[in-house]
Amino acid sequence: MFTIGAHLSINKGFEKIGLEALSIDANTFQFFPRSPRGGKAKELDPEDISKFEEIMQNSNIEIILAHAPYVINLASKSDKTRSNSYELFEDDLKRLSQLPNNLYNFHPGSHVGQGAEKGIELISTSLNKLIDENQKTTILLETMAGKGTEIGRTFDELNSIIEKVEIDEKLGVCLDTCHVYDAGYDIKNDLDNVLDEFNSVIGLNRLKAIHLNDSIYGLNSHKDRHEKIGLGKLGLDAITNIINHKSLRNLPFFLETPNDVEGYKEEIKLLRGLYKE
Ligand code: FE
Ligand code: FE
Ligand code: ZN
Repeated sequence: MFTIGAHLSINKGFEKIGLEALSIDANTFQFFPRSPRGGKAKELDPEDISKFEEIMQNSNIEIILAHAPYVINLASKSDKTRSNSYELFEDDLKRLSQLPNNLYNFHPGSHVGQGAEKGIELISTSLNKLIDENQKTTILLETMAGKGTEIGRTFDELNSIIEKVEIDEKLGVCLDTCHVYDAGYDIKNDLDNVLDEFNSVIGLNRLKAIHLNDSIYGLNSHKDRHEKIGLGKLGLDAITNIINHKSLRNLPFFLETPNDVEGYKEEIKLLRGLYKE
């Protein structure tokens, strides 16, 4: 089954977002569990959640993806930013434990001049405290474009974080196609080799989700500017190969392209047409 969805707004609740996903022929979606700028999250409504669970049971929505707020930086130099980040992360995990089958994607962080090694140390220290062996949510490290001092630009950096985490069964990776291409992995001309490298460095068993985006800038640009499917430097042929690749085709795909809901509907239709059943 092709699992494809988009980033949608959760502002009207889980029942509404579930119905909206179905209305655009999506069978998953990504959402912000709180404002991407942080702050207090809205109270969860158990009735709304049970209505959403009913929608899941009557559709082929099997998994959903939460995206952590952008303000989270577990690698910050500032104790205050780090402890705020930790609290937001912890609170998100607590809330996600009340939702059906879900993943939690976050940006590993920016080392802000301390060096990647120090950043990796700080991130894994926090993850060791945040991960509980009984948690249901799988936490995903997102592959990053390498803007500024972002950690997670290389598979090696991501693997260094994972290696330092003791309870790692609930830890995975979300591959963002715009980001990895910007980071210098040529998924346009050399997808097989990039995935072989991912497999030998991290292990494809860690790969749990794909952010499916085209990129405005090219290979190695480190810009992180998403483009609509087929209109960027990756192009439609590369994206067709990505969604059909034997190592990727059974993963959930999430669009984060510059679109409104109607635009996502069209992209999903296009991609469903290109997916080889
Ligand atoms: Fe992201
Ligand atoms: Fe992304
Ligand atoms: Zn991005």
